[in-house]
Amino acid sequence: MNEQAAHTETVPAKTEPSPGKTAQRCMHLDMDTFFVSVERLLDPSLIGKPVIVGGKPFERGVVAGCSREARAYGIHSAMPLRRAYQLCPDAVFLYGRHGHYSRYSDYVTYLIEEQVPRCEKASIDEFYLDIGGCGLVFDDEKEWAARLRRRILDETGLPCTYGIARNKTVAKIATNVGKKRGECIHVAEGEEEEFLASVPIREMPGIGEVTETTLRGMRIHTIGDLARMPSRILYELFGKHGTSLYERARGIDRTPFTIGEKQKSCGAEHTFREDVNEMETFLNTLRYLAARVGKDLRDKGFKAKTITLKVRDYKFNTITRASHCEHTNADHTIYNIAEAAFLRVYEEGTPLRLLGISTSHFVEDYDQMGMFNEDLQRKERLYAGLDEIRMRFGKHAVVYGSAFEMV
Ligand SMILES: [Mg+2]
Repeated sequence: MNEQAAHTETVPAKTEPSPGKTAQRCMHLDMDTFFVSVERLLDPSLIGKPVIVGGKPFERGVVAGCSREARAYGIHSAMPLRRAYQLCPDAVFLYGRHGHYSRYSDYVTYLIEEQVPRCEKASIDEFYLDIGGCGLVFDDEKEWAARLRRRILDETGLPCTYGIARNKTVAKIATNVGKKRGECIHVAEGEEEEFLASVPIREMPGIGEVTETTLRGMRIHTIGDLARMPSRILYELFGKHGTSLYERARGIDRTPFTIGEKQKSCGAEHTFREDVNEMETFLNTLRYLAARVGKDLRDKGFKAKTITLKVRDYKFNTITRASHCEHTNADHTIYNIAEAAFLRVYEEGTPLRLLGISTSHFVEDYDQMGMFNEDLQRKERLYAGLDEIRMRFGKHAVVYGSAFEMV
């Protein structure tokens, strides 16, 4: 597979979307009380109780996440644990188990990336999906979005809320307002200002406590009030930030979808539930990871030049080994390189905790472009494999690579 060599060598590694591209339709998707939801999957006896994730009540830390039942007592994220204990001594206090959270987060990411070509992961439980081009595959936005939400719930057991609008700011606000109302909001094209008018200013991303106090002092309570302010005054008060507030209050936001640092390298990891030392398991895991990474690259339209293997043993010693190759996004090439690196570094008999493969130094994959139909066919073929994962994920420490067709 050298076909790309001729025209990629003169093309600089390009990782940005075409300049100035703004999403016409954007979905913001946020997991509901994510840490608590994961804890409840792992221990259903927590359902219905006020749960606080972050540490024990007399520790110095803060609340990392809490359930709705805890929120009813006035507890919120970033509140000191001691204060939370004063408000609700009966709450269940738990240490965060971030290995589990990131495993579930990866799974949600995986399900989303199956559906859309461009997804920006804003945090462990929050995503922006560019669904502008998706009209090609779905006729009804509401139906499609509801199906994605249901799929995430069915497959992972985790609830989420989304908002859809013409840009990121309005979509995020729609999610937050929707959470309070218990629904998912679609803001139709042209109805942005109307939707925002009655929303409290605090819901605007970028308005924190200080700005809120200043604005309320000026009798600005809703985003609609803000939209009626002359831009000059907002500029004088807040500088450039004021200009941005002025525009966003009117539903205007040109922030493009970015391929952020995270997306500049594309990778997948697997943490074994128990330390493992079977060669067959390691190689199957690498095969599975290679398939995930390869698919991710193809979906994003990239080929990578650097394939990095990550190995963590039972003592938490971590080794990474980068190998360079012809630009590729083929599962079997990624696998072969990762396997060779693994066989070089692995000391026979050492129990391992984690394996990972990441890729970097991308070029855009010109062969992929405009091949929508082929992509769909490939998706169909991969769905067979996905069903297999669905059955195995979470139940077994290892997802066997043989479930995947090596393209
Ligand atoms: Mg969340």
